[in-house]
Order: sequence, then structure tokens, then C-alpha cells
Amino acid sequence: MNITVIGTGYVGLVTGACLADLGHTVKCLDIDKRKIDNLKSGIVPFYEPGLDTILEKGLINKRLSFTSSYSEATKDIMIYFNCVGTPPMEDGSSDLRHISDSLINLSKHIKKDSIIFIKSTVPVGTNSSMQNLLDVNSLENVNIRLASNPEFLKEGDAVRDFMRPDRIVIGTHDDEIASLAKDLYQPLNKQKDKMIIMKPHAAELTKYASNSFLATKISFMNELARLCDTLEIDIEDIRKGMGSDPRIGSHFLYAGLGYGGSCFPKDIDALLDTFKKNHLENKVLSSVKLINETQFEYFLNKILKHYADSDLSEKSFSIWGLSFKPETDDIRDSVSIKLIKKLSRKCKRLFLYDPVAAQVAKSELQEFNNLCFVEGPYDSIKESNALIICTEWKIFWNPDFNNLRSLKDKIIFDGRNILNGHKVNQYGLEYLGIGT
Ligand code: NAD
Repeated sequence: MNITVIGTGYVGLVTGACLADLGHTVKCLDIDKRKIDNLKSGIVPFYEPGLDTILEKGLINKRLSFTSSYSEATKDIMIYFNCVGTPPMEDGSSDLRHISDSLINLSKHIKKDSIIFIKSTVPVGTNSSMQNLLDVNSLENVNIRLASNPEFLKEGDAVRDFMRPDRIVIGTHDDEIASLAKDLYQPLNKQKDKMIIMKPHAAELTKYASNSFLATKISFMNELARLCDTLEIDIEDIRKGMGSDPRIGSHFLYAGLGYGGSCFPKDIDALLDTFKKNHLENKVLSSVKLINETQFEYFLNKILKHYADSDLSEKSFSIWGLSFKPETDDIRDSVSIKLIKKLSRKCKRLFLYDPVAAQVAKSELQEFNNLCFVEGPYDSIKESNALIICTEWKIFWNPDFNNLRSLKDKIIFDGRNILNGHKVNQYGLEYLGIGT
């Protein structure tokens, strides 16, 4: 099939490259011309494992192309995936301007009856309101139909998630669209039917409900971890004990610094806004948000308390991990960055290490003059009083403890509970995690 994908961010680029890899002919459109020029040369604008390989493959076999022209992107195309951003507004509601701008642009150029799947995460009712926008703006005798197809991929595992989805949600009232979606996703849906067809409103809400529930698990564990700290119980024992119950499941039960990234915080705000607009209270989600917002300060206070009798302005720290989660260079709403901003104002120096996110973080942190980006995780250990782990990259899980013994104050603050405290102690180092 000939397909155009609008927006070449994490979702759009993965969608475009994967659809091309499945045999479709895909054009990817973005208004960011520099990004498009780079993509034409095979340069991926962000770190996502495996994406560069399928992108290069698509460019070589000519099934994947890039453009910043709406007129080119709509030539002989009848299927579209809209993947533009839906960032949060000041009041927590979703900013839908990118969606409406892109749909108005499409409607001005589309000359044949077409179907647009909205992959972006959008509040309940957006498909309906955007359908009205299209009906008003589309060319005479051209019928453009919208359907919801929320995306559930995870950054860091996005290609695999797209190629092996747990579910494919399609929100439509239209049997023809449902049948087209079945054909489109057929290679991903053969072994087991993972497609769930529902009304567009339900599909929109399913996405928010999923992210909010995952965030709820995280905040639940983080609140419990605070109790564990007080009662001197290891939250890891609780995690294992709870997680082995299949009704609970073992995923997303890790206590730590809390969630960040471009999705969870904004999606929770948007769902809270939906409750508010419908004059309903939401006590669970409000608490999830509050716990998360205070979690990194809870951890920071552990560090400050440890140094209560010292002059913190004389102390330097090594920080491991800058991205909001491992296997990505995305630092949007990264808890690590928040912690760095607060701590850097109080201490002498921070040495920052991340396997891939340093470049992106540099521009975000340029106003802070006591930061030093280091090339390797152990480069700054001798000059540091302590190590602070902020992102659970795999290379941090089994560190070289002999190297870490050179920390001046012989202590590791583990914001992701990835190290074994007893093992750390065996190397003569103190260990402070969250709920451990
Ligand atoms: P992003 O910010 O990385 O990318 C959005 C892209 O859209 C940018 O390249 C931007 O230039 C382009 N764009 C904006 N306006 C445009 C227009 N009018 N025409 C063409 N291109 C335009 O965003 P993302 O992280 O890929 O997220 C996209 C959507 O998918 C959001 O709604 C997000 O909530 C949702 N989502 C994201 C993830 C994720 O892990 N990032 C996962 C699932 C769903």
C-alpha cells in the first residue's frame, strides 16, 4: 500500500520505517526541513535501537522517502498516519494545534477520498472534532475519514514494540476502515488476532487509561518504598512477593526516582483535565501525580540529609544517567535532569555521564556552569565524593566496584535500586537506595 506518515518524531519515524519494512511504500512528512534533509541522508535524529538499520534498508530499496511538502506527500496517497506531537498546555490540557494544522494542510492538498489514522495521543472527542474540521476544509467531492489508532510503543524498544504489538487498537464506526486496518496490519496480526476494534472515543481513552495505570503502579511502589524506608523493610522483597501474583504482574513495580518522559506526565495531566471538564473528581490520578512530583525530592533529601553536617558546596558528585529511561537519548521531563538542576545549585561540581544522551542534555543544561560531561562512567570517580545513579542503563547494573572504591566519601546513592546494597557494602562502600 502507498502510505504517508505525518510527523517524524519517535512515533512517526518508527511507524514509517516499520511500515516500509513490512513492504508498504511510505512517504514521511515533517515541517522540520532540517530533520527531513538529514533523514534523506539516513541520519536518524534521535537514538532508538534498530531504527537506523531499517531506515537505511527502506532508503536503499526505495520503499521509504522523506519530504517537507504537503503537495508531494499527498500525491497518489489514500492512507495517512498522523503522528505529530500533542504537547501539554500550561493548564495540563493537550495542545492540539499540531494536529489541526497538519489536518488543515492535508485537507487542502488531498484530491482523492482518503483515510487518516490518528496515532498521536489525543483527548476523548478529538477524532470527532477533527472530523468536523476536515469536513469544512476538504476539497469539493473529496471524502476524508478519520480513525483512531493510538500508539503503544515504548521508546528504547520502539521498533520491536511496533513489529510485535501486544494489541492494535482501532477506533472507528466504519466497517470499511476496520477492514482496511486489518489488511494494513496483517503481517503483525497473523499468529494471533491482536486487533481490537472499538468506537473512536473508547480508543482515545484506552491510551490514556493504559499510561495512567502504569504510572499508578510506579507511584504506588514509590509511596510504599517510603514506608519501607521507615520500617527498614526492603521494597525488593515486597516487589518479588507481590509481582509473583499473576493478577498483579511483575512489570512496573520498581520503586525509584519516579516516571518522566514525554508521555506519562503529559498523559496524566490530560486525563485529569478530561475528568475536570466532565465535572468529575479523580483522587487516584491526582495522588499518582503528586507522589511522582515529590519522589525525586524525597531522594534528593536523602542526599542532603546525609551531608547535613558537611559543607555541600565543597562536594562533587558523579551522576550516571541523564535520559528519562535507558536505551534512549530523550531527556524530555527526565527526572535526572530535574535532580541535576536542583543539586547543581547546592554543590561544587557535578560530573555527568550517559551512554547516549549527553549531547542532548548539554543544550538543556547550558546555563549551569558547574557541570562537566565525562566520556566514561569512571572518569570522574576519583574526583567525586559520591556516585548518584539516576537512569537504569544496563551498563550500570554490574559496575566495577574496585573503581568505585575511589569515591571520596565511599557512598553510592541509587535512585533506581539497581545495585545490591549488601554487595556494595562488601566493597567498603555505603549504599542508599529508595526503600532498601
Ligand atoms: P515528537 O515531538 O518526537 O515528534 C513530532 C513531530 O511532528 C516533530 O518532528 C514535528 O516537527 C512534527 N510536526 C509538528 N507539526 C507538524 C505538522 N503540522 N506537519 C508535519 N509535521 C509536524 O513526538 P512523538 O514523541 O513522536 O509523539 C507523537 C505523538 O505520539 C504524541 O501525541 C505522543 O503523545 C504520542 N506517543 C508518543 C510515544 C513516545 O514514546 N514518544 C509513544 C506513544 C504515543
